[in-house]
Amino acid sequence: MNAAPLIRELRQAGIQITVTGDRLHIEAPTGAITPELRQRIAENKVELLAELRQPVTTTDTRADLLALAGRLAVDRAHVHRLDDDGVALLAAIGEGGMRSFLLAADDAATRQAGKVPLDNTAAIYCVHCGPVFVHPGIADVLPVVAGWPRAAGCPWCSIRKAGGYVPRPRITCESCTRFKPDTINPAAGVGTCASGHSTHYPMQRHGCGDHRPVTPEGTSHD
Ligand code: SF4
Repeated sequence: MNAAPLIRELRQAGIQITVTGDRLHIEAPTGAITPELRQRIAENKVELLAELRQPVTTTDTRADLLALAGRLAVDRAHVHRLDDDGVALLAAIGEGGMRSFLLAADDAATRQAGKVPLDNTAAIYCVHCGPVFVHPGIADVLPVVAGWPRAAGCPWCSIRKAGGYVPRPRITCESCTRFKPDTINPAAGVGTCASGHSTHYPMQRHGCGDHRPVTPEGTSHD
């Protein structure tokens, strides 16, 4: 069996598959590996190892990059856009660097299209962008403040600065320092937003880039 279609299917499901020695290494969002998929991976392990191990064999780095992009199910346009200096740089850092470059370029293109890369399943709080989605590997190493992994910058910063669309994790106004409950009748469940957004019920979940999580002390996250 040609394992390339299965590798493509895994990648499109947000599943990263790599080889270390004789072992397949898989990183997947929770629930992405179904019993049926697990069985297919096991049944095709030999073919997957062979496909993923294919060495760079030509002296034409651009051709190697195009072949690698095909195996990773990454848009070949990322390779076509490289000038000769860029190709030479990637040739110098080897196949691991080429793989990282192609995956990073693919993630960046997905973000620029206003979509979340499939494996970016963790919500963090960026001090510039507010709540955003990133890869769990990023969230895992961040300090947690007011219940949110907190970052001084994120992969969405350049997109936000350029005026692009940033998809948001869903939050509530009641957990935001900018929500001011109605002082006369707070039990009515209404209030106002200090950022001037239209009214949401305090517990209504929605996306908001101006959300500022309340700390346990009741102060601003910033
Ligand atoms: S900034 Fe966003 S989350 Fe905060 S109160 Fe306003 S609308 Fe709600």
